[in-house]
Amino acid sequence: MEDYPKNLLELERRFSTEEACRQYLYELRWPDGFQCPRCSHEKGWRSSDGLIRCTPCDYKTSVIAGTIFEGTRKPLVLWFRAIWWVTSQKNGASARGVQRVLGLGSYETAWAWLHKLRRAMVRPGRDRLSGTVEVDETYIGGQKPGKRGRGAEGKALVVIAAQEDGKRIGRIRLQRVTDASARSLKPAVAQAVETGSRVRTDDWNGYNGLKHLGYVHEIVRKDSAVEDNLLPLCNRVAALVKRWLIGTHQGAVSHEHLDYYLDEYTFRFNRRTSRSRGKLFYRLLQQELPQSLKPMIDLSRASGQQGQEIAIYSSYASQGDTPIDL
Ligand SMILES: [Zn+2]
Repeated sequence: MEDYPKNLLELERRFSTEEACRQYLYELRWPDGFQCPRCSHEKGWRSSDGLIRCTPCDYKTSVIAGTIFEGTRKPLVLWFRAIWWVTSQKNGASARGVQRVLGLGSYETAWAWLHKLRRAMVRPGRDRLSGTVEVDETYIGGQKPGKRGRGAEGKALVVIAAQEDGKRIGRIRLQRVTDASARSLKPAVAQAVETGSRVRTDDWNGYNGLKHLGYVHEIVRKDSAVEDNLLPLCNRVAALVKRWLIGTHQGAVSHEHLDYYLDEYTFRFNRRTSRSRGKLFYRLLQQELPQSLKPMIDLSRASGQQGQEIAIYSSYASQGDTPIDL
């Protein structure tokens, strides 16, 4: 059952102590009762320090192990408020806002928190798109139009995958890639779309071989009916995400941090019809708990480019700021 606070007052009342926050995470993580991550035994003891000890194998774990809360020195009560605030912002959250609302002393802490939360919004390889999915790339940033297949200076290349939902756009996935070669594009598709789905692209050779990855590959070619709008869902998403980056973040998004923003946009877009802020809060927490993780797809098998995922994550750690103009 989905159980979440409906408004700020409920949040404040319900999550006023560390124990209440822990209990909530516990129920989200082990909805059917505790299960030892090591031996799968179903009996454990909870100690006062928040650790859970497995009875037969003595393995110690905690409800926050493997989550963004692990190792934090700040109380969960504060984290819960940060998540509430981030998910309740209609268009996007700013580090200044997080700092102000939580009364954090340092802007850097607020910034780091916000980026951790953005990262929690989309888990690579999880919950992939299915059915019919349009895939295309777009350049973000820079002044001049870029040439396909090569890097363009000052621009980031982003792969858009948009699920078809009648005439509407269903869920989306966005991923930055180094270039538009098959080596970059195929793992991006594998990460975003379930095998067996119908993938619609244009005739760019970077998409050759999708069939061998287990997709039904549909190639749209220019004709009078579609004119230049070969992939209308992707084109629409590209326009929306660019507008969002300009509008919400004043275009001040650096290359290094673009992944975070793409994750935040994806999270918001995919839940745009959800009216309840409490539900977004719930979803974000639920997504953050390792128990609900589906097995990662094996990218090495998909294309022999296992480094892709690591490369994406390592960019999160980078602190440098190289602004790109939008
Ligand atoms: Zn055990």
